[in-house]
Amino acid sequence: MRQANLPLCEEHFTWWFERRVERTLRRYSMVGPGDKVLVAVSGGKDSVSLLCALLELSEEMGFEISSITLDLGISGYSEACVEASRRVAGELGVEHHVVSIRERYGFTLDEAVRVVRRPPCSTCGLIKRYALTDLAREMGFDALATGHTLDDMARFILSSYISASLDELVRLTPSSASGLPGVPKRIKPFYETLEEHIRLYAEIRGLEYMPDGCPYAGTAPTDFLRAFLAELEARRPGSLYSMVRGYLKHIRPALQAQFGDGLRELRSCSKCGLPSSGEVCAFCRLREKVLKRLGRGGGP
Ligand code: SF4
Ligand code: ZN
Repeated sequence: MRQANLPLCEEHFTWWFERRVERTLRRYSMVGPGDKVLVAVSGGKDSVSLLCALLELSEEMGFEISSITLDLGISGYSEACVEASRRVAGELGVEHHVVSIRERYGFTLDEAVRVVRRPPCSTCGLIKRYALTDLAREMGFDALATGHTLDDMARFILSSYISASLDELVRLTPSSASGLPGVPKRIKPFYETLEEHIRLYAEIRGLEYMPDGCPYAGTAPTDFLRAFLAELEARRPGSLYSMVRGYLKHIRPALQAQFGDGLRELRSCSKCGLPSSGEVCAFCRLREKVLKRLGRGGGP
C-alpha cells in the first residue's frame, strides 16, 4: 500500500481489499440484507474481481448475487469475453446469464460502429449501460453492480471539469437510484479501489481474466487522461482517492445545493420506459437509427 507505506502479505492484502469493498458498500448504503444484486461481468480483471469480492461479502452482509455478461458482437473478441466470464462464474459457483445484444436488440456493436458516427467506446458504453439496466429490471434485481474503479471515477470527474459538464459531474456517484419504480439502482463497489490493487487481488485469488484486447480500445472519450492520472498517482500516492473523496464531500454537495440531483430531470422513455432525460432515451434513438441504416426496420 504505497499511499499508507504499509507492506502486506497476500493473506492480509486479500483481507484488507475485501474490507475496503465492504466499507464502500456500507458507506454509500449500496446493498441491504435480502437484496438481489446482478453483477455485470465483462471477463476483464475488474469485473471478475468484483464478482469474487462480492461473493465473499454476500454471506456476512446478507445479500444475494447473480452475474450477467453481454455478448456485444465484437468480432474475434466477444466470444472470448463470454467464455472467460462463464468460466470464472462457474468456478466461483455463481449463477451466470449471457445475453446477446444482436438477439435482444437486433444489431451488434460492430454493426453500430459501422453505421453511426460516434467513437466506438462511447457507443459501447451507451449500449452496455442501457442493456444491463434493462435486463436487471426484467429479471427483478434490486441493484446492478458494475466494475467501475477509483481510476475510472477520477478520470470521469476530471473530464467533466475540463468540459465543464456539470450535468455529468453531478451524476458521478457511487450509487444511483433510478427514481423510477422497478428500475434497479446502479452501484459501483470499486468506487474507492485502485485498479492496481484489483489486478493484484485477481492474481492472488487466481482469477483467470481476459487481457485487454478489444479492437476498439483507446477510443473512449476520456482515454487521453489515463496516462496523466497514472503519473499523478505514481508521484503522489493517494491522489486519486483524495480527488474522488473531495468531489463527493465538497464539490458534489455544492452542485447539488444549486442544481439538485441533475440539471436535466429524468423521466421514463416513451418507447421503453427506462430513465431518460428526453422524451425518447438515447439508446432507443440509437437503436432506431442503426436498424434503419441496416435496413432492419424500426425500434422497440
Ligand atoms: Fe466497449 Fe470500448 Fe471496452 Fe471495447 S474497449 S469493450 S468498445 S468500451
Ligand atoms: Zn428508451
